[in-house]
Amino acid sequence: MNSVLSSFNDILAQVGPHTTRAIGHAIPKSSVFPPAINSFESALLSLDQAYRMNHRGTGDIGSYRYVPGVGRTAQMVCDNPYPCDFDQGIMEALYDRFQPKGSIVLRIEHDAVGCRAKGARSCSYRLKW
Ligand SMILES: [Zn+2]
Repeated sequence: MNSVLSSFNDILAQVGPHTTRAIGHAIPKSSVFPPAINSFESALLSLDQAYRMNHRGTGDIGSYRYVPGVGRTAQMVCDNPYPCDFDQGIMEALYDRFQPKGSIVLRIEHDAVGCRAKGARSCSYRLKW
């Protein structure tokens, strides 16, 4: 797993942030979701479980932590080993797939506290839609 992940990260480093985000976009688009996942919020909530199901038998793999906010807001804290742009691509794709009624755009605001791209342990995003 670690070598697969590190070569994956090597590839992502070479292709740059734009393509990294595009790869993140592609994953939820091609995935099959259980019927219980029928909204953007439930998709965000299920992301951690889906991530764990696809990474069985490894050590500390980090997580996707969903913190519901007031109204159409939420916070996602990602301390998985994937790049920041990749995770933002995943969230954008979940929004596109489960587009909430009456919402036109998803805004992702990266918390200024730290970024995995700069050596922080996690990235935190404020989502508004
Ligand atoms: Zn980041």
